[in-house]
Amino acid sequence: MKISKKIFLSLSLLSLVILVGGVAVLFWLIVPRLQHLGAWLFYAAAIAAGLFLLVVTGGLFLLFLSALTEKDFLFPHGKKQVTVKVLYPINLILGYLLGIGREKIGESFVAFNNALVRASRKRLDPARILILLPHCLQLADCPHRVTSDIRNCKRCGKCPLAGLAAIADETGVQISVATGGTLARRVIVELKPTSILAVACERDLVSGIHDAYPIPVYGILNQRPHGPCRNTLVDMGQVALGLSVLLGREVKWKQGK
Ligand code: SF4
Repeated sequence: MKISKKIFLSLSLLSLVILVGGVAVLFWLIVPRLQHLGAWLFYAAAIAAGLFLLVVTGGLFLLFLSALTEKDFLFPHGKKQVTVKVLYPINLILGYLLGIGREKIGESFVAFNNALVRASRKRLDPARILILLPHCLQLADCPHRVTSDIRNCKRCGKCPLAGLAAIADETGVQISVATGGTLARRVIVELKPTSILAVACERDLVSGIHDAYPIPVYGILNQRPHGPCRNTLVDMGQVALGLSVLLGREVKWKQGK
């Protein structure tokens, strides 16, 4: 499923326009009082407002440019958490006012975040990559307990875990199945990955990207043909693509492996 970063990008640009407009209106409203109190106060407030807008618009401009071009315009350790901690909640409110659903904004945020991960691919450390999976990918009737160890999967091919375990073996990356956010956080603390390829629904991916910061997370949305949280699927082509980004080399996946 192809998801677009455009919704998140457009809402972020709208947030920026509202912010700039808000600061300009506020400044315009207090100008007479500032001039009354003293010319120096007026100039000091004008410089402070100008610097604030320069830093915010400059930072967001570099962020948007990186996401659009997938080239690294962010400084080392660029503050990408601004996307999930500041822009995402603002975009949710704007989306609500404009009638854009939470799910669509979440999906677009994941695409935007993945574009930033691709932009910073030269800075990624491939030492300890972790594939983090939700339990709902396992066939509901499967008797094998894979949450403790995915090697318990017999690779019968009836659910996506067979392919995911195979691609982890081939590429030498760590892989884990978590039954929820708490367990996923514990796995991250124990394995200390340098980057994560996470498969989940849009809601869990957004919170996972937030919780894992500063570890880069490449998110892939699962497919839910049987409804949420049951016998979900994942596009293995997308998994191979995500691993290629994190490993810095091409990973191929042939259907039926
Ligand atoms: S591939 Fe087969 S054995 Fe492995 S988890 Fe899925 S159903 Fe169970």
